Amino acid sequence: MHIFITGGAGFLGSHLTELLLAQGDDVWVLDDLSTGSIENIEHIKNHPSFHYRVDSVMNAPLVAELVDRCDAIFHLAAAVGVRLIVESPVRTIETNIRGTEIVLQAAAKKKKRVLITSTSEVYGKSEKLPFREGDDLVSGPPTKGRWSYACSKAIDEFLSLAYWKERRLPVTIVRLFNTVGPRQTGRYGMVVPNFVRQALNGEPITVFGTGKQSRCFGYVGDVVEALSKLIRTQNAVGEIFNIGNDEEVSIKELAHRIRRITQSQSEIVYVPYDQAYEEGFEDMPRRVPSLEKIGQCIGYRPKTSLDEIIEKVVEFERNRRAGATPLAASASSLKMPVSVMQQSSPPAAQP
Ligand code: UDP
Repeated sequence: MHIFITGGAGFLGSHLTELLLAQGDDVWVLDDLSTGSIENIEHIKNHPSFHYRVDSVMNAPLVAELVDRCDAIFHLAAAVGVRLIVESPVRTIETNIRGTEIVLQAAAKKKKRVLITSTSEVYGKSEKLPFREGDDLVSGPPTKGRWSYACSKAIDEFLSLAYWKERRLPVTIVRLFNTVGPRQTGRYGMVVPNFVRQALNGEPITVFGTGKQSRCFGYVGDVVEALSKLIRTQNAVGEIFNIGNDEEVSIKELAHRIRRITQSQSEIVYVPYDQAYEEGFEDMPRRVPSLEKIGQCIGYRPKTSLDEIIEKVVEFERNRRAGATPLAASASSLKMPVSVMQQSSPPAAQP
């Protein structure tokens, strides 16, 4: 298949690109490198089936051109990360709503298969666990910046389903639950890369709030396999699916596990939310997906445990610090000559 990925140089997008290339698909990536980075795709830039443009999803004529070239579209480009959302709400709302509108409009003209990525944030303050796709979404007030992300993604979902109902655009929506793995940067606040970096540096591990809040962390490799299956599944059209892992862990326990796995001496410290984010910041106490619907549709079950995920992230981070090219390990899975892979430069250091 010829596949177009918006946000293909991001954390999730670059893993999806690798998988699709390994499966024999032809991949076109559009990314403005705002939160994505060229290092994420450096090792595949010379793959004969890989093509990329550094530009914004707001460039509607370019999006239309790339939609024309392809059979299916993964729309991943979005403003993500709680820190970025709190600090840049205008960018969050505009990118997430307008970007999706542009992709859906272009896809609808040619009736191309689309997968739109939404987020578990849309469940908001709901306390009915585990979260099921048909549940009510419970938002906080517009005066609290965090909720702009959930609402912008909820609008994307409404718009996508409207295109399916009114224009028969074959669209699938996925709600991603805390996806983690190698290459995710801690720059936008994500907890796993932050804790791993702090533990390896011997710096205090900063648990926000009491640490009793919990999350379920899904491995990026498991998630991209599910995305690839969903876009090829007719029964997934017009549907919303949770994707992630249902193994729940408190943030305090996560900090202890990361300290144990890295054999770090770091102290675990507790930082009040209003110091970590902003005055009046609201966090979700628990977030657990029901994976029943996606299990029934494509047989999905997460394969990678939290300890295995942490080990992979730690190994990646250690290799990165040592100046190795951990990404080149995927040469065989990409069916690329190793000589081509070796032309890639090592990933740049991140703060
Ligand atoms: N968190 C933390 N320390 C950090 C970063 C995040 O304790 O350095 C907490 C955060 O407050 C939340 C959880 O870890 O309760 C997950 O945060 P993340 O930003 O990774 O994802 P979220 O689930 O909030 O979208």
